[in-house]
Amino acid sequence: MTRDKIIAMQTKIGTTPDGFWGPQSIAACQRYLRQMMPTPHPFPPQANVTQFYGPHGVPNGYTPPMRTIQLPFTVYFENSPKRSLRVHERCADSLLRVFNRLAQAFPTTEERRAAGILTFDGLYNPRLMRNSSTAWSMHSWAIAIDFDAARNGNQTHWPTRAVMPLEVMECFAAEGWTPAGAFWGRDAMHFQATAP
Ligand SMILES: [Zn+2]
Repeated sequence: MTRDKIIAMQTKIGTTPDGFWGPQSIAACQRYLRQMMPTPHPFPPQANVTQFYGPHGVPNGYTPPMRTIQLPFTVYFENSPKRSLRVHERCADSLLRVFNRLAQAFPTTEERRAAGILTFDGLYNPRLMRNSSTAWSMHSWAIAIDFDAARNGNQTHWPTRAVMPLEVMECFAAEGWTPAGAFWGRDAMHFQATAP
């Protein structure tokens, strides 16, 4: 993000608008998003996902219970249009509400493209986490979704390098989803249906 965008974001989250994204900005941003989340929180913390969602999927094996949601706008997966997504049944209504919020917050195709939300980069994917040989990715439960991976990489620092807008994160936080960029400072493509 540009310095101007970071300053605008600091103003919005109520911290010193100095263009420097340090511990105070990180804390303010997380506080800002947490206070938008529903109470009681609809989802468990990441450590308790199996209790809440059941077992994760495995390649060529178990598949978690999923439902298809019809999206309010078309997204593109590797350039092919998609108007529906399969997502775990316990967060399917919630993800549909997130999409409806995104449709309202970014009303035109141009705004959606600029925000990165037309580039869908995956949801269900039974695999281990990138840095682990034992821990399964939240994508294995079909409870995580990625957008605009090219500009919001797994190791790309948010918000100094990655560009995922805070307003996209707000739409997820309002339904209790955790945006990785704001909470881990990287992997800003990623949003998961867990409590932070
Ligand atoms: Zn992801």
